[in-house]
Amino acid sequence: MKSLDIYKLLPKTNCGKCGFATCLAFAMRLSAQKSEPALCPYLSDDARVILEQQTRAPIKEIVFENIKLGGETVMYRHEKKFFSPPPFAILLKDTLTDFELKNKINFIRSLKISRLGEVLQPELVALEVTDFEKSRKLLEKLNSLNKQVLYIGNIDAISKLLPIKKGIIWGKDALKSAEISKAAKVPAVVSAKSVSELKEISKKAKSSAAQDIILNVESEPEFFSSLVEIRKEAVVNGSIELGYPVVSRPNNLEQALFAVAKYSSLVVLENFPKEEIFALLTLRQNIFTDPQKPIQVEPGIYDINNPKKDSPVLVTTNFSLTFFNLKSDLENSKFPAYLLVVDTEGLSVLTAWAAGKFSPEKIAGAISNFKLQDKTSSKKLIIPGLVAMISGELEEKSGYKVLVGPKDSSALPAYLKTITAKTAK
Ligand code: SF4
Repeated sequence: MKSLDIYKLLPKTNCGKCGFATCLAFAMRLSAQKSEPALCPYLSDDARVILEQQTRAPIKEIVFENIKLGGETVMYRHEKKFFSPPPFAILLKDTLTDFELKNKINFIRSLKISRLGEVLQPELVALEVTDFEKSRKLLEKLNSLNKQVLYIGNIDAISKLLPIKKGIIWGKDALKSAEISKAAKVPAVVSAKSVSELKEISKKAKSSAAQDIILNVESEPEFFSSLVEIRKEAVVNGSIELGYPVVSRPNNLEQALFAVAKYSSLVVLENFPKEEIFALLTLRQNIFTDPQKPIQVEPGIYDINNPKKDSPVLVTTNFSLTFFNLKSDLENSKFPAYLLVVDTEGLSVLTAWAAGKFSPEKIAGAISNFKLQDKTSSKKLIIPGLVAMISGELEEKSGYKVLVGPKDSSALPAYLKTITAKTAK
């Protein structure tokens, strides 16, 4: 919706209560989906409904502390892209003994992997609250984990925990949760047995001016269908009531994989083994990578295994998968080396060569741009075996002696041993 059309629906009193100096400034932020109509307390009901429908993503984006949920605009990733990878919340109960809690905390700490330059880990702890005092003590022990909290359970106890640590709340009574969320300014989960019931509860929760809401369908038989139905209703049929992030509590790996792929915005994991959580983290990273934009690393010269002035220089592209595989193989080989990463706009070796982005000119340009001569006195470059055909021209253009490396980086340790042995003779 254009700013001027939004402006026509605003009170035009420039009172500043929305946080913007003028109604027009507020209209421009709404048009860019950078603010929300609820910030203006003087909107008519009709104007509010229209603006809520027209100025936000079909699945409303909710930001809580460093957690982002929703903001999705499409059913299928190939239509555009998915925006917010669903955070994972590892469930803990406040009934755990000290010993069990210590083990759980160690378990949560161990759920961390590095993949394609990103550190992947669960972002929240879901705390099942039965008793205020028990949960309060447990919260203290969770401090060192530095995770956001999703409170589940006894809403009276949860409301007393919020001043100690803010968190997303999920009580049994959806409307009471909504009221508490309004006072505490935290998002609330509203649950129902079916999608149609959820639609009604969502409407009531929002009319009680709840802060942000997150949806959930409790019914086990509807686990798969409800996730798809909610997304379809919101994105295809424009349902405002169902246009919110969805949280799910999968009971097994099949459900969890589905929830990550379609269409949970937040996933609560209880008693999942480490290897399954790693599989879910990996799947999430794959699905929430923009398919229209190859994942790339910064071009430049990377030091591997503390290289010296005469260490060999290997050349590659800035496609993440190529880079990290090569880097890992080199690190494991223990050979000190320099890695010259050429900007190929994220294309892999052969594709980049075919597109003219991994040409002798580009590589020679990278040598000069990144001042390779300041790093190493070695005048030898090792190029991937897949582009052996550019070796002659690259020698001419760069002035370096070009060696053709193996086609697959896994063969590099053996290759490097051979050339090091030859140099030594
Ligand atoms: Fe205009 Fe409403 Fe903002 Fe006041 S609060 S400046 S009336 S948009």
